[in-house]
Amino acid sequence: MKIYNTLTGKKEEFVPLEGNKVKMYVCGPTVYNLIHIGNARPMICFDTARRYLEYKGYDVNYVSNFTDVDDKIIQKAAEEGVDAGEIASRYIEECKKDMEGMNVKPATVHPLATMEIDGMIDMIRVLIDKGYAYDVNGTVYYRTRKFKDYGKLSKKNIDDLEAGHRDIKVAGSGEKEDPLDFVLWKPKKEGEPSWPSPWSDGRPGWHIECSVMAKKYLADEIDIHAGGEDLIFPHHENEIAQSEAANGVPFSKYWMHNAFLNIDNKKMSKSTGNFFTVRDISKEYDLQVLRFFMLSAHYRSPINFSRDLMEAAKNGLERIATAVANLKYLAENAQPGGMSGEELEKAALAQEFVEKFERAMDDDFNTADAVSAVFELVRFANQNSSGTKAYLEMLLEKILMLTDILGLKVEKHEEMLDSEVDAMIAERQAARKAKDFARADEIRSELLAKGIVLEDTREGVRWKRV
Ligand code: AMP
Ligand code: ZN
Repeated sequence: MKIYNTLTGKKEEFVPLEGNKVKMYVCGPTVYNLIHIGNARPMICFDTARRYLEYKGYDVNYVSNFTDVDDKIIQKAAEEGVDAGEIASRYIEECKKDMEGMNVKPATVHPLATMEIDGMIDMIRVLIDKGYAYDVNGTVYYRTRKFKDYGKLSKKNIDDLEAGHRDIKVAGSGEKEDPLDFVLWKPKKEGEPSWPSPWSDGRPGWHIECSVMAKKYLADEIDIHAGGEDLIFPHHENEIAQSEAANGVPFSKYWMHNAFLNIDNKKMSKSTGNFFTVRDISKEYDLQVLRFFMLSAHYRSPINFSRDLMEAAKNGLERIATAVANLKYLAENAQPGGMSGEELEKAALAQEFVEKFERAMDDDFNTADAVSAVFELVRFANQNSSGTKAYLEMLLEKILMLTDILGLKVEKHEEMLDSEVDAMIAERQAARKAKDFARADEIRSELLAKGIVLEDTREGVRWKRV
């Protein structure tokens, strides 16, 4: 399988460093608020990549941090008059709820920056010893120019960066040896959370966190490092400079970056107010719809969030759920016994859609094409849905296997109350009476998608859950 590697600018064959083990690190959110749907994109895309790697038989160690100390957290804490730890733990809990709703699997480890301070101090000490960092009055800076490969990920030339920073130099940022140097450790200001260190009571810079957590929970050299494309520079560039200078080996073999999610074709931005939290969306849609919407685009293409596209995703997901409920019902009531010769031929045809799905995912996790293959399989199943139990179960298993790789829950995801079912049946009877058969059929499939099967008998309509 191939992965597009930001470091080389090419799609490359994926070969893990060590047997079938995959060491994967995904930069997680800064927890000062509910996560927005932009933050949900890397979560969903890289969770899907992880699921596919697992499907291929890899043993994935998936690490994703929470940044729980940061200016924005401190500011929010001050606004509410509580301490920063309370803000961080509140929004970590909320984030985990959203992740569960989107069916994002918990990481193997979710480290917290504030629990890893010792490791950060150790790495900063190594960088100072090797001449890559220096302390000025309690602030420790990274000596950017000393790292010869600086700019290799973002393809930036260090001299252009210098030009861009000249205004800062003129403004007099003070103590740094060079405007390009970035902070590894900074002294506390009054009222801020702080930890003792050899340089000052203070707190770490953001970039050092990820270098340290990847080293501790994975290795000096990892297979995949991922995050949103805004992290390429400076965050990931700085992580490379820190980790490679400290550890003396390449940091990550593959670098993956998701493109941005926009709203109404404009950049989603908290400051202008055009953004939605995942929680906002969950009030209107099942979060499976949000996940399906995200996966309908390739992770490296920008995606535009709109109500129309969410409605399309909702319908698409319902179409799959209906086919699944239908197959389950048919399989339960079908003749037992093995597949006939003709059914075996159809099974081979169905397998072609599975292979199409795999080809799409093998090509840099092209979920857009993979979703099309699922739709084709569903159409095939709808058109060839009579047969033995073994045959119907084969179709059902294939659809469920593929939707599970995509992390989509398509088995009756909503519990309906008996009274709601009865009300819909009454509406369907009224539609039939009025000869609105299209509406009547629509109600039947809506119910089916929710796992309710209708049987029209001489005594009236009976229903049951499947
Ligand atoms: P942050 O909490 O800002 O550090 O962001 C957490 C993750 O969400 C990072 O990987 C960001 O790149 C990603 N991210 C933030 N905004 C968006 C967006 N609009 N579209 C896609 N990814 C985003
Ligand atoms: Zn990071």
